[in-house]
Amino acid sequence: LDFCKRTPKVELHAHLNGSISRETIEKLAMKKNPELYKDLRICFDKGKAETLDNVFQMFKLIHQISDNTEAIYTIAYDVIHEFSADNVKYLELRSTPRDVPSSGMTKSSYIEAILKAIEDCHKENLDIVVKFLLAIDRRNDLSVAKETVDLAERYSRLSGGTVVGIDLSGDPTVGDACTLVPILRDAKFRGLKLALHLAEVPAVEETEEVLKILPDRIGHGTCLHPNAGGSQGLVDTVLQHRIPLELCLTSNVICQTVAHVDNHHFKYWYDQGHPCAICTDDKGVFSTSLSEEYCLAAETFGLTRKDIWTLSYNCIDMIFAEEAVKQDLKSKWNSVKSYEL
Ligand code: IMP
Repeated sequence: LDFCKRTPKVELHAHLNGSISRETIEKLAMKKNPELYKDLRICFDKGKAETLDNVFQMFKLIHQISDNTEAIYTIAYDVIHEFSADNVKYLELRSTPRDVPSSGMTKSSYIEAILKAIEDCHKENLDIVVKFLLAIDRRNDLSVAKETVDLAERYSRLSGGTVVGIDLSGDPTVGDACTLVPILRDAKFRGLKLALHLAEVPAVEETEEVLKILPDRIGHGTCLHPNAGGSQGLVDTVLQHRIPLELCLTSNVICQTVAHVDNHHFKYWYDQGHPCAICTDDKGVFSTSLSEEYCLAAETFGLTRKDIWTLSYNCIDMIFAEEAVKQDLKSKWNSVKSYEL
């Protein structure tokens, strides 16, 4: 674990409200409503969320404390510091903008609170580059999705490139991503990057439709392979276009979309030499860190120090940032390589 901690890392799949730490929950919940804190603590103490369903129940509780812009700012600020303390040098956060009339929070002020936290961390000279993806919840209809894409385009301009694209997420057992394909296609056309949750549960037709857009990255991709309820056609498309996969080991095991970590699809894609990024998904909800996820991958699949370093280094080419940022990151990685491997 020490080596994984020391290795510089890239985090490409982190949902803001799922990344909230226990400390931040306590800070926010005690201020707002100690009863709510009791419920949250029970969830977190049970430790592991156990099923996909329980995880989505936890998000509902967390959303009750993150219903105002101050809380959103605090969560983003703390999460960035926590990733930085774990030696993450480049982070893409994703979050679903919410309107909460009772607190006066609008989707715009939600986004601005996160951008302010990113800017404040930057001003503190924290050694981490942070970008931001706006998330579309898949249970929403086309009009909400369009609003999110409009906001992403607007804030990409206003933030000078901190907002880089769109995530499609939400409970995979609810809704149909096919209905959102036209707006996702439009987002791509407008120059936004697409990191889309795909095939978290078996859904061959939906996955085929969404893959036609050729997203820039795929979240999870658990059920692409025929052995996991997918099809060879899906696998071939992903391989042929070398669409990078964001893989979250602990999350998939806890949500039971993968039976055991030994069976994780990381092995299949890694063995093919396909671009794979190890990610946390929701480090708070799943009580993990990026270093722990690398360590788990290394222990499960017998990776050497050099393999870990290379796995992490290769993520740099998957980031949604300009070439100069990639070059800067590569030189940071190279300075570790010379004396550690
Ligand atoms: P938020 O978007 O910052 O509020 O982060 C929490 C949200 O991320 C949840 O309500 C889901 O929509 C989404 N999310 C987090 N983890 C997962 C996952 O494993 N699959 C699909 N969606 C997820």
